Amino acid sequence: MDKADKSLVILGSTGSIGTQTLDVARMHGYRVKALTAHRNYRLAEEQAREFSPETVCMTDENAYRELKTRLADTDIKVTCGKEALCGTAAIPCGMVINAVVGMVGLEPTLAALNAHNRVGLANKETLVTGGELVKAAAAANGVDIMPIDSEHSAIFQSLMGNSCNKIAKIILTASGGPFFGYNKEQLKSVTMEQALHHPNWNMGRKITTDSATLMNKGLELIEAVRLFDVTPEQVEVVVHRQSILHSAVEYEDGAVIGQLGVPDMKIPIQLAITYPERLPSCSRRLSLFDVGTLTFERADEETFVCLAEARRAIAKGGTAPTILNGANEAAVSAFLDGKIPFYRIGELVCACCAELPHTSDVTLGTIAEADAAAREFTFHEAERQI
Ligand code: NDP
Ligand code: MG
Repeated sequence: MDKADKSLVILGSTGSIGTQTLDVARMHGYRVKALTAHRNYRLAEEQAREFSPETVCMTDENAYRELKTRLADTDIKVTCGKEALCGTAAIPCGMVINAVVGMVGLEPTLAALNAHNRVGLANKETLVTGGELVKAAAAANGVDIMPIDSEHSAIFQSLMGNSCNKIAKIILTASGGPFFGYNKEQLKSVTMEQALHHPNWNMGRKITTDSATLMNKGLELIEAVRLFDVTPEQVEVVVHRQSILHSAVEYEDGAVIGQLGVPDMKIPIQLAITYPERLPSCSRRLSLFDVGTLTFERADEETFVCLAEARRAIAKGGTAPTILNGANEAAVSAFLDGKIPFYRIGELVCACCAELPHTSDVTLGTIAEADAAAREFTFHEAERQI
């Protein structure tokens, strides 16, 4: 671990966070040592030719074969599979950015920490499913985890210079997604196109769907509990439609310190990489005059059941958040494949969490079992209802 080492390994380089991380790397002259992607070999090839990494790992076998052929005229090593993904995360570097989507990101996060690599973590599913293991690995190896999720970056920034002070609560802001104000009946007729049209952020399809169900806020609540050692009751979710206040911390004396800025992920990505320095960025500047009004409202947890279910899962603890996450990943994937309507995501997640038992014994083995059981239950239920 060397903070002066300006080299990056980027897991999930072809995604929304991955490509923006490369924009930051390009702007500030960071060396990109390795990249990983799943299926998008075309973009992976383009990125490899521009950044000349030592290694590119493709987790999908066909994409791996295609990329290997395409990069045959270079010295770039092309690897394949989950083990290679973990091996890539363990390449010595200044920071591993974990921007893969889904709980497949857990083992590479652990591999990076165990190799003493600092981790810039966008992959929230890692903390939801294996939060205890990740925190233990970071502590045992003496390495930092820098949050990239905009809310958690805002909380991290609001905590700066206040390490001796007790947190009263965390104010976790939520945009509310495209269906804010809808009731259960209205959610029954929304389309995939509407769900994938986020009002403020341009992100991958899975997190955009999670933002529309408010599961994203549920996952982030769990992420905040894990990262900042607060109780779930200390996290207050506040719907803030403009996405300008990215979250805040209230201290014991009643002072509230928050971070504001335009909704642009390059700001938290860059801070994770350059911390403790703040460097110039190409992001738009915030004009409070242009924004005019900031509004704050309560989330409707009776309609958006995923948020309430996430609260129950973190209260249960153990593998309960893994069951929640596995059910959600399976349900979102069924929705994106056009197999179930939008409103069924929440129903399937709640049914799975009510049905499957959890254990308080959290190991990689029990996590994998809980995840597999949740996916199987949810796929089965989704197929049954078609
Ligand atoms: P995208 O879907 O845009 O990108 C996901 C990346 O992961 C791609 O590089 C993809 O490769 C790769 N990938 C997909 N499936 C697998 C797999 N099975 N194994 C290994 N790699 C895989 O996602 P986002 O960039 O939007 O999100 C990434 C993570 O960051 C998520 O956990 C999300 O919740 C979090 N996050 C995202 C934000 C955003 O603004 N986008 C904001 C805050 C957090 P390929 O392209 O080849 O399929
Ligand atoms: Mg977020």
